[in-house]
Amino acid sequence: MKNFKPVQDENKKVKHVRFLGLCKSCGLCISKCPAKALRFSDDKVGYYGLPAIEIDIDKCTACGMCERSCPEQAISVIDKRQAQPAKSKIKKSVKKKK
Ligand code: SF4
Ligand code: SF4
Repeated sequence: MKNFKPVQDENKKVKHVRFLGLCKSCGLCISKCPAKALRFSDDKVGYYGLPAIEIDIDKCTACGMCERSCPEQAISVIDKRQAQPAKSKIKKSVKKKK
């Protein structure tokens, strides 16, 4: 069995990870993406020999719709903007307790 490593793209706002070993290229994520950020690759293939999914990361709004709609759990979306305030809140509460 060929070992497909996850493929990821990211910018300041979002990290988008695709697990090519799980993706069956059904296209559901493409059709559900409200930002039209996803597409089939012209040259990369997944485990099943079908086109891999690619992303235009700067179009992605980190809504998570692709992750929720994928029947194979082949996508992970991390909204970095939500992660940062949560960390800063923890730091503030630690400072207050001192
Ligand atoms: S919905 Fe999941 S399995 Fe279908 S193409 Fe997208 S990533 Fe692949
Ligand atoms: S997180 Fe939302 S905007 Fe980004 S690729 Fe997935 S469905 Fe599209």
